[in-house]
Amino acid sequence: MLSSARPSTRPSAAGCVCHLPSVSAHLTPPPPPAQARCNHTATHLLQAALKSVLGTDVSQAGSLVDFGRLRFDFNSAVAPSEEQLVRVEALINGWIGDSVEVQSSSMALSAARASGATAMFGEKYGDVVRVVDVPGVSMELCGGTHVRNTAEIGGFKVRPCTRRDSPAAHHLRAQIVSESGIAAGVRRIEAVAGPGVYDLLSEREKIVKSLAASLKVQPDKLESRIAVMSEEQRKLAAEVESLKARPARAP
Ligand SMILES: [Zn+2]
Repeated sequence: MLSSARPSTRPSAAGCVCHLPSVSAHLTPPPPPAQARCNHTATHLLQAALKSVLGTDVSQAGSLVDFGRLRFDFNSAVAPSEEQLVRVEALINGWIGDSVEVQSSSMALSAARASGATAMFGEKYGDVVRVVDVPGVSMELCGGTHVRNTAEIGGFKVRPCTRRDSPAAHHLRAQIVSESGIAAGVRRIEAVAGPGVYDLLSEREKIVKSLAASLKVQPDKLESRIAVMSEEQRKLAAEVESLKARPARAP
């Protein structure tokens, strides 16, 4: 019987689903199930959005869903631009707002492939697989837990990657994990979904308020204040250079 067979994707001990052994997966205490479901379904939406914005040759290279975030590694010849990442976020938040029913069913691997379900390249699947379908958006082979409706996710936001070994990572919303050997062109996106979006935005608001207080301006004047400061700094630096270039006076 098809329904008695186990799906071949693997829920991990942390209660999250790693489609591939992740690059540096740390096991954490089980996340609240609702948060895990939000993050996991959001991962499927992220893959669909990346295919839509960057091209259908984007393929998943690994993922990790943990307590407060989701992480998605994918193969892509080019890094997504900031503008493309904004479109990815907008697509996902649109699908969340559309309140799409999420369906799952077990079926023969051949039937799943014929229906166009996305499978992980290089992953070994059994004869029977579980297919998670967000109609009109995404269809993936997956054994993990999901929300019943995309509206449950609440929201989605890409956040800066936190890899400490890349000084530039804090400024990037998607970063290259590796460009050599077998992992050439593998890129990483970290994001938050559900309540994590509120936490991330609150954290950012705190930073903005603190900067505004330091510079003694309202938050909406930060950009112009910093532009003025940069210009002053540029003029001062030029003045210093010109003073240095003057011949020294005789004592
Ligand atoms: Zn999945």
